Amino acid sequence: MGDNKDDRLIVWFDIDNTLYSASSKISQAMGERIHAYFVSLGFSHEEASELHLRYYTQYGLALRGLTRHHDVDPLDFDRKCDGALPLEEMIKPNPRLRKLFQDIDRTKVRVWALTNAYKLHAERVLRILQLDDLVDGLVYCDYAEPNFSCKPEPEYYVKALEKAGVTDPSKCYFVDDNRGNVQAAMRLGWGHCVHFSEHGLEIVEGGRVKQIDNENLAGPKVIGDDNVQVITDLEQLRHVWPEIFKKEI
Ligand SMILES: [Mg+2]
Repeated sequence: MGDNKDDRLIVWFDIDNTLYSASSKISQAMGERIHAYFVSLGFSHEEASELHLRYYTQYGLALRGLTRHHDVDPLDFDRKCDGALPLEEMIKPNPRLRKLFQDIDRTKVRVWALTNAYKLHAERVLRILQLDDLVDGLVYCDYAEPNFSCKPEPEYYVKALEKAGVTDPSKCYFVDDNRGNVQAAMRLGWGHCVHFSEHGLEIVEGGRVKQIDNENLAGPKVIGDDNVQVITDLEQLRHVWPEIFKKEI
């Protein structure tokens, strides 16, 4: 992991709600545990909902607000929230996705994961999805660090490049289901950024899922005035980024 002399292209995959469907309801289950955590700190249900939403919106991660303003131990939070999820019952390996990863041309491309979760959750998800052997490196939110950063904070992306030994951000390919995370990478000059907006589903603030009508998104499209390319299925990456896949499959 992390060969610093590697000058291949690099593909960064977000993990949660990108490598598995939001219909797994993992984000809701996480949201419920986070809510319970706020309540365990002495907040009413109403205050808990309000703070959860505010911190998620403001910092990209509820835990960020909890550590900044409430002196919460992030590792305790992680154990009780992400660590307590019955993931094995919620997600299954997806052969189509594994094939997509296998079809990436490793002579030219490295594959890394870039997540706002802690490494325990990230590694667990990759293992359950049977993608762990196809991922070369992982950048995660280091809850053990006093003032850890997360997407979409610029310093998080800068650290990610350092960890992977990338000096030229134009070599980066990045896909995430959170549009703000994609926009942040684009602002930092990451070369090829795609917003994954799962067909029929979109995550909204606080980890809740709502149905959206993206029936008209049959293929990759550029949507909105921020010039973000949107896909509704990771298979579309084969068309959006043909240069990273093996020629003869
Ligand atoms: Mg995600």
